[in-house]
Amino acid sequence: MTDSPNCWKCRFFKISWDPRFPYECEAMNFKSQALPCIQVMSIDGRHCQWFRLKPEDAQSAESTTPKSGIKGNQIDRSA
Ligand code: SF4
Repeated sequence: MTDSPNCWKCRFFKISWDPRFPYECEAMNFKSQALPCIQVMSIDGRHCQWFRLKPEDAQSAESTTPKSGIKGNQIDRSA
């Protein structure tokens, strides 16, 4: 895995309503045909500095071990 920003995992990444520019970066407020992080790299020559992991990805990255217990609508079949 690389350390470069990935728009698909970024909280600022959106799909645009505009089919000509289907991707959108909410942090820098622009739409693009290519992924915004690729646009940033091609224009600025550096990786995107705004990248922030999506909350759900951040939570799964924090928990490396499975949690015990019953969650949601799972049924406890051990009883
Ligand atoms: S902040 Fe960077 S990584 Fe996030 S959507 Fe914009 S360009 Fe992509």
